[in-house]
Amino acid sequence: MNTNSTHETGSVKDYFGNLFNGIKTTVVGMWITFRYVWGVKPVSIEYPEVREVLPERARMRLFNDVQNCISCTQCAMACPVDCIYIASEKRPEGEEIKKTSNGQAIRLKLTQFTIDIGLCCYCGLCTTVCPTECLTHSHDYEFSQYTIDGMKYDYLAPDVIAWRERIVKV
Ligand code: SF4
Ligand code: SF4
Repeated sequence: MNTNSTHETGSVKDYFGNLFNGIKTTVVGMWITFRYVWGVKPVSIEYPEVREVLPERARMRLFNDVQNCISCTQCAMACPVDCIYIASEKRPEGEEIKKTSNGQAIRLKLTQFTIDIGLCCYCGLCTTVCPTECLTHSHDYEFSQYTIDGMKYDYLAPDVIAWRERIVKV
């Protein structure tokens, strides 16, 4: 009789002990959750409705304002991975020589300005050497493509010009 009574008391003690431990660990676990719900600033954003504001000097997709490009090829020469392709030709005799926005004469006619962004390592050297500052890194990071060839951007092509106009407005 006495043995049974001791055994029952032990079971009740274990039961309440386990119950207490269960509640305690739940409260501790939920406390961590509640701290993140109310106490910690969220680190995620609801993309694409909300977009990341990049640091001012962030280097994303390259942008060439070709109207200000003088075809000097300095950017292509500075590029460590040779991913800038430039072609130009002499202007016909008598054709008006326009100027860039910083006053440099545009003596050559740019016929090709392509960057293979798939090869680019975003080092920024090309933008640093550009004498007219027409080549810059934009803040556009949404330019994924289905094929690697799609990463070759011809900056004289209408679709890239349309993209450029969108970027300039941003
Ligand atoms: S950022 Fe660097 S790798 Fe990319 S095109 Fe310019 S120089 Fe070349
Ligand atoms: S360095 Fe600037 S001006 Fe010269 S070719 Fe490159 S983008 Fe054009």
